[in-house]
Amino acid sequence: MIKTFLKMILLRDVIKPLMIGLKCCFTKPVTRKITQIKRAGKFRDGFSINKNKCIRCGLCEGICPNKSVVLRGHEIPVFNFDKCCYCGLCQKVCPKLAIKIKHLKSSDN
Ligand code: SF4
Ligand code: SF4
Repeated sequence: MIKTFLKMILLRDVIKPLMIGLKCCFTKPVTRKITQIKRAGKFRDGFSINKNKCIRCGLCEGICPNKSVVLRGHEIPVFNFDKCCYCGLCQKVCPKLAIKIKHLKSSDN
């Protein structure tokens, strides 16, 4: 009885983890170093606004859930990327298609 129990403990706590460790030594790592990750392009730097198309309607400012779009007077909207969650609503709501977010089409969301 004790012998069987010890065998079970040995198998469960020593041999099995050892086998898993050995297996991992010969497989590719699941994680990648940050330098190995190519820029996917889904960063918040992909915003552009067409000054000529913008009619300063303020819809982008109104719809932004994080209040990261600010419209001052008759200037074009200013984006605060610290607050932006990249939802794309501002691009979607713009009646003049003045906002372009890389990798997000107007039909996305
Ligand atoms: S993508 Fe979303 S959070 Fe970012 S500025 Fe536009 S509406 Fe605001
Ligand atoms: S929704 Fe479009 S047109 Fe209106 S203020 Fe924003 S960028 Fe300009």
